[in-house]
Order: sequence, then structure tokens, then C-alpha cells
Amino acid sequence: MPSPRKYSVGVDLGGTNLRAVAVSDDARVLGKISGDTNLSAGRDAVIKDMVNAIRKLDDACGGGDLAGVGVAVPGFIDMKRGFIVGSNNLPQFDRFPIRDEMNRLLGKPVILENDANAAAMGERWLGAGREVDDLVLLTLGTGIGGGVILNGKIFHGSIGMAGEFGHMTVYPGGNPCGCGNEGCLEKHASATAITAMARLMQLGESVPAREVFRIATEETGDRQWRAIRIFEKMGEALGIAIANLVNVFNAPLYLLSGGPLPAWDLFAPAMLDEVKRRSFTFRNSKTRIERAVLGNEAGLFGAAYLPLAGHTLLPHHLEIEEN
Ligand SMILES: [Zn+2]
Repeated sequence: MPSPRKYSVGVDLGGTNLRAVAVSDDARVLGKISGDTNLSAGRDAVIKDMVNAIRKLDDACGGGDLAGVGVAVPGFIDMKRGFIVGSNNLPQFDRFPIRDEMNRLLGKPVILENDANAAAMGERWLGAGREVDDLVLLTLGTGIGGGVILNGKIFHGSIGMAGEFGHMTVYPGGNPCGCGNEGCLEKHASATAITAMARLMQLGESVPAREVFRIATEETGDRQWRAIRIFEKMGEALGIAIANLVNVFNAPLYLLSGGPLPAWDLFAPAMLDEVKRRSFTFRNSKTRIERAVLGNEAGLFGAAYLPLAGHTLLPHHLEIEEN
């Protein structure tokens, strides 16, 4: 493999999967490693796996200049001290100085970032947001998270908790949420909320979102009508939230990613109706609301971007497959 001018390694440390990618500053993928996050072996073993993966990629890129390592993790990041706070997926890492420990082992700059923020940055670098400096990403999963990019940079807020869109109130007095509020977006529009609505609509006790999607697209009659209605309700809740975001940020682009995305045609019309109704800014600007394109690789590429952010990057022509 030819030696790139400069490159970085992005790591996506999830509760189940550990992935790493080496990317050059002109966005060529130089190598990729994926495996399991071996949490049962303990924290030190997971750090060792990460360091080994990074060294392996660095060796394979021999002769280049590793700018640094970006690590995307689920949970809040204490940016000043470089550790993860309150992650349900990585409890062993709570308040452990993971950034400094990896920096010590690798002798390279290490940047820690929340995975949804990294995903927003990945979309901005190589995905659906390549043309814009400001964008907002909402990630739909068991909960709803997201990230805000302003002037090409991740907006963290004062303690790194910006972009918690899942807990925006969309229905005062709506469904109660574990955060202490009620009517939170993620109680009305996440994959978990779809399953909860399916139970209320008597489609089954614990029907996964993808099965509700199948019923909506393949079945007929009353069951199909109920499944379609669930996605309309989800779209309404999302639309209320996005209208508020449009009114606050006036960003040119809002992206959605995550498991329920294949149901776009079912929820998007209701979503866009709500945004139109509730946002003067949306009606009077060229605001786009679209699907993210990098899927579950957005965080990985966003993490790889972080150490390169201070450098002048070359233009790139990476072809991304739409998913
Ligand atoms: Zn909440």
C-alpha cells in the first residue's frame, strides 16, 4: 500500500463491537479491523485490544504520519479530563482516564468523543453533509441521541451534554421517561416507542420495530392500518422536535439515522407536515431534512476525522453507497 501523506485512526468502542479504521487525509480507507468488545475480560483487556488494533493499522500504513487517534464511545465525555461518564454500555470505563492511558500506551494524541457527535462529524466529512458547515443529526435507536455541528465543529455545550434530542419535550403530559420528564421525543419516536405503540395497538406484546414495518408494508386490512398509524405518530413526534430544532439553529441540513430509517416513506410525510406547520423558518428557507448515508460507520469515520481536524485536508472523492 502506498504511504499516505498523513492519516489517522478512528475507533468505535461500543458495548458489543469494537471497530477501527485508518483513513488518510484525502479520505482513503487504508485499513479496517472489526471484532467484539470483550467486556467480560475486563477494562484493561479492552484497552489492550484497542491499542493492538491501532498498532496493527499503523504498521500496515508504514511510512506515513499518524496524526492521532479518535475514539467514539457511547456515553457522556468529560472533555477536560478525558473520561467517559455514566455509560450504560461501558460501565467498567466510568470515570477511568481512558484518553490519557491510551495516549501513554501509543505516544500519539488521543481524542475521545461521544458516538452520536462523532457520527454527526462523520456525515459532515464523508456523508450526507459534505456541502454544509452546520448540520444536526438525530440517531434513532432504542433511545434517540444526536449531534450538532456548527461552523464545521462539534457543539458540546458547557459540560458535553448538547444534542440530547431524545429528551426534548414533544408532548407535555405525554409518556413518562426514565430521565424524570414526560413526553420526551424518545418515548414517542424511538424503536422502543414503536414497540410500545404496537402493544397499545394490539399488534403483539413485544413486536420489534422492523416487524411493525413489515406489517405496515406486507399485510393488509386492519393490522396494516394500525402499523401505518404507528409510523405516522412517530413522524408527528419527530416533526415537532425537528421544527423546534429548525427554529433554534436555522441549519441548512437535518439528518436522521438508525434502525427505523427503512420506514422513511411511512413516517416522513407526517414528519414534514409537522415541520411545515410549526416552523416559519422551514417554510421560508431551503432547509433539508434527509436520511444520513453512512449508516453505522458514521461514528467510526467521524472519530477518524477528529485528529485530522487541525490539518489542511485534501479534497476527496469517496464514493458512499446509499443505505
Ligand atoms: Zn426523557
